[in-house]
Amino acid sequence: MEFLESIQAAGVVGAGGAGFPTHVKLNSKAEYLIINTAECEPLIESDKYLCRTFADDIVKAVGKTAEHLGAAHAVFAIKGEYENEIASLKAAAERNGVKVEFCEMPAFYPAGDEQTMVQLVTGRSIPERGLPLDVGAVVQNVCTMMNIEHALSGEPVVDKFLSITGAVAKPIMLCVPVGTHLNECIAKAEIALPAGSKGYAVLVGGPMMGRIIVDKAEIAKSVVTKTTGNLAILPLEHYLVKRSQLSIDSMKHQAKSACIQCRMCTDLCPRYMIGHEIRPHLVMRNIWRENSIEKTGDEAYVASFGDALNCCDCGVCEMFSCPMGLSPRRMNQYFKQRFREKKLNKERNMHPEASRFIKDRRVPTERLYARLGISQWHDSHVKPGETHIAFTPEEVYIPFRQHIGKPAVPAVNAGDEVKRGDLLAAADGAVSANIHTGVNGVVASVDANGALIKVNQNEVSGRE
Ligand code: SF4
Ligand code: SF4
Repeated sequence: MEFLESIQAAGVVGAGGAGFPTHVKLNSKAEYLIINTAECEPLIESDKYLCRTFADDIVKAVGKTAEHLGAAHAVFAIKGEYENEIASLKAAAERNGVKVEFCEMPAFYPAGDEQTMVQLVTGRSIPERGLPLDVGAVVQNVCTMMNIEHALSGEPVVDKFLSITGAVAKPIMLCVPVGTHLNECIAKAEIALPAGSKGYAVLVGGPMMGRIIVDKAEIAKSVVTKTTGNLAILPLEHYLVKRSQLSIDSMKHQAKSACIQCRMCTDLCPRYMIGHEIRPHLVMRNIWRENSIEKTGDEAYVASFGDALNCCDCGVCEMFSCPMGLSPRRMNQYFKQRFREKKLNKERNMHPEASRFIKDRRVPTERLYARLGISQWHDSHVKPGETHIAFTPEEVYIPFRQHIGKPAVPAVNAGDEVKRGDLLAAADGAVSANIHTGVNGVVASVDANGALIKVNQNEVSGRE
């Protein structure tokens, strides 16, 4: 099979973010292949683990992908402080004769934001709402690179590595079949809540852009997908949990009454720093007169709130910058929704230029830990030399949509026997992805959203 066909057949999607189908992203030529190795969100451990443990697979995939793209540069964009991971990747590159470069980044957030990273590596700002390819770059996450190497050997994406961090006695790394229930994963860690805590919530992803699930029933039905990289246990009393419970109405109300127009949200905004027109303080200033602006007409509405379209949801403004604890990000999300409803758009700046202050206005990761109230977990890591725990649960529920684009179409029925690697649902069109099973068992049921598989009893438990 050809390079892209193999990747498409294996159902490879961007493992570090929203799950964009990789065969679509790689259907191009580019000057730069940038491997996102920043793991810039606090508390996440999985990419570092993969770099230390599977560096050969990652590096081999980098070589093949760079060749496919015709890329003159294959660059690991990695924080300089990840010394073990850099050493591991360098040694693998030498062993495998793959020419790679390293862009050692300072420890700041969001170093892993695709547009921030491309600007840092290439010196080029991507147009507003554009793609890295617009400036000759393709960005892939390290886990995606590992999956590409497996795909080229005919292995589909069926397992996921993820860390369990936060309020646990010790962070752990897991390798589980896609579709494993979150509760099964959490049960492998020793939860360590502070005295007097009334329970915990689960943060899926990192504290800046992840999703916090408080409801026990929702936790119970949630599963690991191709894009799950971390689960963090948070006490219910934690600042992040409380903040996640605020309604959009109360945030709007706060914005109207408490914004002091200090413009810190704008001055530290990573997208503003790369030259995009995004000034959240102006959006916040205008919220109180949204109704009257709306009556004035679409042009005024776009002029007042159109900046919101350039927001990437990184969360720096609300989780770090704002001295009043307000939520420009949520307001931008609100306006993005309103623009979709009203079918409005804003002209894009195709030639942004980075601010001369870009280096001075990065948010140091260490300060971010303090601001988020997670400093107690700052030095809590999966250490080099420690290995992952692999297990096979009694059942998996495998969603048909774990990617951007159309959901996959079921290719099995209830009662079918399936083997690890079998196709469970087929991609529906070009922007979609195949879904496979990582377990041997019987399909118990198929609904519109996914398939439940009961695992063969003799295979439940540890799998190395
Ligand atoms: S979330 Fe805030 S800081 Fe991040 S891009 Fe949007 S406005 Fe800027
Ligand atoms: S940082 Fe907060 S208070 Fe300052 S302008 Fe932005 S939203 Fe208003």
